[in-house]
Amino acid sequence: MSVNIFIWNSMQDTYRHKGLRRKLVEEVQSKGIQDESVLAALEAVPRHFFLDSSFVEIAYQDKPFPIGSGQTISQPYTVAFQTELLSVEKGMKVLEVGTGSGYQACILEEIGARVYSIERHHGLFIKTKNLLNAMNYKMRLFYGDGYKGLPTFAPFDRILITAAAPVVPEALIDQLKVGGMLVVPLGAGDTQVMTRVTKQADGTLEEQAFGYFRFVPMLRKKAP
Ligand code: SAH
Repeated sequence: MSVNIFIWNSMQDTYRHKGLRRKLVEEVQSKGIQDESVLAALEAVPRHFFLDSSFVEIAYQDKPFPIGSGQTISQPYTVAFQTELLSVEKGMKVLEVGTGSGYQACILEEIGARVYSIERHHGLFIKTKNLLNAMNYKMRLFYGDGYKGLPTFAPFDRILITAAAPVVPEALIDQLKVGGMLVVPLGAGDTQVMTRVTKQADGTLEEQAFGYFRFVPMLRKKAP
């Protein structure tokens, strides 16, 4: 009985949830996020659907949260910060590396991007694919190694890496359009520098740094 109530609760998006979400958007805005399309997307996506528990209050705190398989759903502020830096416009083809819970992919979809997302962890990939189907999202999800990207679907207008990369993966630069941007938390240590890489017409890269963040590592090769 309690199990059924749990499932029922976790897939309902009530006025209470919407109210908590509005507060979260205000909090993220007060921390400096200005892009209206990012704030609207944050308000549209029911974050409590992505957590293992039905602790609704926790879903709407501006904090990261464990999602199983040793992974985390990023803090809403961090999701908003990366999305704002990416400057996504409607219709753009966007590759996300590190699908995780699928929350960030939904934010990109809400902005109007055509989203392709890769996850290396098979269990998580299946779990997230099922959830996003149930939520009626139509982005394309792949089980694979983000270091290799998706050559078949390249080039991309934007690439977003949501795990800490020691270096900017070469294959991903190749899969970026000229004038395209890639956002990545860069560094092999405990903290990473949020970096935006723009591919110039002559093939060179312009790199800009945007402060320190903490992500789980981008690992090589697929995992079962
Ligand atoms: N974007 C996610 C948060 C991701 S946490 C969300 O919104 O919930 C980082 C994710 O990157 C983890 O799920 C991890 O398994 C995945 N990951 C790490 N290395 C990877 C790689 N080489 N290719 C694809 N995914 C990877």
